[in-house]
Amino acid sequence: PPKQRLLLVANRLPVSAVRRGEDSWALEISVGGLVSALLGVNEFEARWIGWAGVNVPDEIGQRTLTRALAEKRCIPVFLDEEVVHQYYNGYCNNILWPLFHYLGLPQEDRLDTTRNFQSQFDAYKKANQMFADVVNEHYQEGDTVWCHDYHLMFLPKCLKEYNSKMKVGWFLHTPFPSSEIHRTLPSRSELLRSVLAADLVGFHTYDYARHFVSACTRILGLEGTPDGVEDQGKITRVAAFPIGIDSDRFIRALELPQVQDHIKELKERFAGRKVMLGVDRLDMIKGIPQKILAFEKFLEENGDWRDKVVLLQIAVPTRTDVPDYQKLTCQVHEIVGRINGRFGTLTTVPIHHLDRSLDFYALCALYAVTDVALVTSLRDGMNLVSYEFVACQDSKKGVLILSEFAGAAQSLGAGAILVNPWNITEVAASIGYALNMPADEREKRHNHNFMHVTTHTSQEWAETFVSELNDTIVEAQLRI
Ligand code: UDP
Repeated sequence: PPKQRLLLVANRLPVSAVRRGEDSWALEISVGGLVSALLGVNEFEARWIGWAGVNVPDEIGQRTLTRALAEKRCIPVFLDEEVVHQYYNGYCNNILWPLFHYLGLPQEDRLDTTRNFQSQFDAYKKANQMFADVVNEHYQEGDTVWCHDYHLMFLPKCLKEYNSKMKVGWFLHTPFPSSEIHRTLPSRSELLRSVLAADLVGFHTYDYARHFVSACTRILGLEGTPDGVEDQGKITRVAAFPIGIDSDRFIRALELPQVQDHIKELKERFAGRKVMLGVDRLDMIKGIPQKILAFEKFLEENGDWRDKVVLLQIAVPTRTDVPDYQKLTCQVHEIVGRINGRFGTLTTVPIHHLDRSLDFYALCALYAVTDVALVTSLRDGMNLVSYEFVACQDSKKGVLILSEFAGAAQSLGAGAILVNPWNITEVAASIGYALNMPADEREKRHNHNFMHVTTHTSQEWAETFVSELNDTIVEAQLRI
């Protein structure tokens, strides 16, 4: 039988396009979490719909890019610069992202943006409508449409207005905050109602799903049921689907010669010292300053460890044109400089801080040689770095220190040392505990996490979501 068609709609396509000439394009695949999740799912015929990350104002460009992308099973949505500015930089990244991570709506020096709120929200709706137009154009009867993330909360409603029979699922990759946070959002009701137009609404954790349901009951006055939200007999199913990683991809990579070479190099470089690792986008939600301050406190209180441990912090630049992110970069540099000045020697420093990304092989090697990984997100939808670290640790059996405010704390909590990242004293003590942990406890904790990471994979996540969406629709038909 022909495979079921799956239309995956996300703000960004899994390929980036760079223009080489009037009608020629270079495409580069980017293997993010969602892409690797779906690469392994063979039971669907998947097509991607999204923005290619470039402004293409001319007709020739649009036509040739569309053709080039078709070979990768990708369908572009063309957004002009003004829409991208207002919808993506504005409403998505300046309003929704901070709000969903409990940083609140813009205040103080960002206060000005609240005046543009309405025009940004209008651009958001307009952009979502443009995505809906493209989906609708390519939709065939029986297709399943899976919408992704906070960029596309308006999409389920637009799609159902085109065709109420369309099977529509929506998944949020960030936290969904407490209804007390969500209720501060000027467009709080409109967004909830449009998400509720979907047949199935998914979150990483049970808590996020519960927050969403209580926002619907408190803000919209609807009824919450154990399965979801009911509005005049129509039920929207709401549930938790924790994402995973393609663990085999990491485990296999460790055997590759280039990764083995990296591992050997790193081991020689840091011989005689324990390696601690942080890998984060340089975003306020990752709690990088808090992490480094905790490391400083640990060094302060444990003089004997000063020349026996090193913290490698990979801080991947992100949204570098935004003043708040520039400020964070300066702040982190200042703290790192101070600590290295304080505890460094002529030949060594306690913190190696990199403002750049690593390639996949270097990252795997780094994960493999690490003794203690430090994930101190102040809020994080899931945090895949913690999963990737565990996948690469089967010979070392290192320790994971993990923020209780990362979604991953729900799944790796039994094997990790959970911390409140705001409590510098507690994190510093956990660093000491992790560095001194006896081998049998390390092994027990690691085995627990490794079992979880290798059995709850991204492929399984995608299959579960889609099959739940199919079931939801069958059940809804039975109710009629
Ligand atoms: N990552 C990467 N290169 C780097 C550092 C990180 O590709 O130099 C990847 C990492 O492997 C992980 C992702 O970036 O898959 C980060 O995902 P996570 O869920 O931890 O955080 P996010 O950045 O999505 O908030």
